[in-house]
Amino acid sequence: KKQVFVLGNGQLARMLKQAAEPLGISVSAIGLESELTLDELKALMTDSSVITAEIERWPHTPITQYLSEQPHFVNHPIFAKLADRYSQKSLIDELKLETAPWVLLPNKSNWSALFNTLGDKLVVKTRTGGYDGRGQWRVTKDTIFETLPEELTEQAIVESMIPFNYEISIVGARSCDGNTVFYPITHNYHQDGILRASVAFSNQNSAPKNHLILQEKAESMLSKLLHALNYVGVMAMECFVIESADGPTLLINELAPRVHNSGHWTQNGASISQFELHIRAICNLPLPSPVAESTSVMINIIGTPIDYRWIENEYAHLHWYDKDPRPGRKLGHINYNSLSPEKLKCSLTELMKVTPIEYSESIGWAISLIK
Ligand code: ATP
Ligand code: MG
Ligand code: MG
Repeated sequence: KKQVFVLGNGQLARMLKQAAEPLGISVSAIGLESELTLDELKALMTDSSVITAEIERWPHTPITQYLSEQPHFVNHPIFAKLADRYSQKSLIDELKLETAPWVLLPNKSNWSALFNTLGDKLVVKTRTGGYDGRGQWRVTKDTIFETLPEELTEQAIVESMIPFNYEISIVGARSCDGNTVFYPITHNYHQDGILRASVAFSNQNSAPKNHLILQEKAESMLSKLLHALNYVGVMAMECFVIESADGPTLLINELAPRVHNSGHWTQNGASISQFELHIRAICNLPLPSPVAESTSVMINIIGTPIDYRWIENEYAHLHWYDKDPRPGRKLGHINYNSLSPEKLKCSLTELMKVTPIEYSESIGWAISLIK
C-alpha cells in the first residue's frame, strides 16, 4: 500500500488525506506538536514512504530532522527557498519574471531613499512566517512611524504597493518526468490581506475579458518556475493583474509550494481536485490535465461557527475543518459549481442571507463577477 506522510496537520493535510483515500493511498498528518515519538514514527514508515508538507517552514525537532533525512521527501530543498520572501523574490527576479519591485529592508532604513525608489505606498513583509496578511504593514511617508512596530524584530522585505485592477492565481502541477498540467486561473478577493472568495471559470464558458490571455501567461510563468526548481507536485502562484490598452500584465505576488486555498474550488469543480493531483504527482501516478467544465465559486468561512443553514442550498458543498472557532481563523469553505450563472448567483444570494454582514462584500464581489 502506498503511504504518504504530510508534515503539518491543518486543513490542507486533512483534505489531502480525504483525496488520497479513494486511490487506496493512506495519508498520515504529522503535526509539529505531534504526540508521536520518533521511534513510533520510524515504526510506521517504510523505505518507500513518500513525504510532503502542507506548511512551508518548520522548527528543527527530532521528528522534522528525521523526515528531512528521508530520500522520498519530495521537493525538500525547495521549501526553505520559497518560505523566505527574500530568496523567493530573488528567484523570481533571476528567472526574469515580473513581480512587485522590492528590496531587502536594510538594518538602518533610509526611508526617504526607499520611498524614492519604490514609490509613495509601500508594503513591509516579514521574510518568513507571514500568512493571511499577518506579518505585513502598509506604509506611506505620513504613517510610517505609526504603522510599523517600533522595533521590527524580524528581517523583512519592502515592496511597492501595486495599484492592481484585480488578483488571480493559478494552480498547476509537475510530474516526476517533467510534465506540467494546470487548472483554469482563479479570480481572488482579499479583505484585510485574507482570502475571502474565489471564482474560477472553465476555459470554455463565459469568462471575464482577457481570460485566455491571462491563462496562457500564467501557465507559462508557472511552468518556468516549476521546471527551474525541478519541482514535483502542486504549486500555486498568486498574481496582481494590471489592465492597460496593451492588454493585461501579470505581476507575481507570491508562490506556495503546496496545495492552496485559491484551489479549493477544484474539490467540486474539476475532474481531479488539487489535493488528488498533488498526491498523484508525488506518488508518480498518472497525471492527466484536470478538466473544469463549469464555473466554480468558493467562499471561505472565517471566524464563524458552523451553521447548517448554509447547506439548505442544493449547490452548496460544505468543507468544514473541525478547528476551534476564533476570529480571523479559516474554519471551512463552501464550494458551488454550475454551468448556469443564474443558479450560482441565486445560491450566493441565499448564502448572503445566512452569513454575518461581513460576508456581503466578498459574496457580492463573486456575484458581480459571474455574468
Ligand atoms: P497568504 O495567506 O496568501 O499566504 P500572505 O500573508 O502571505 O497571504 P500576501 O499574499 O503577501 O500575504 O498579501 C496578502 C494580500 O495583500 C494580497 O493578496 C493583496 O491583496 C495584498 N497585497 C500584498 N502585497 C501587496 C502589494 N505589494 N501591493 C498591493 N497589494 C498587496
Ligand atoms: Mg503567503
Ligand atoms: Mg498570498
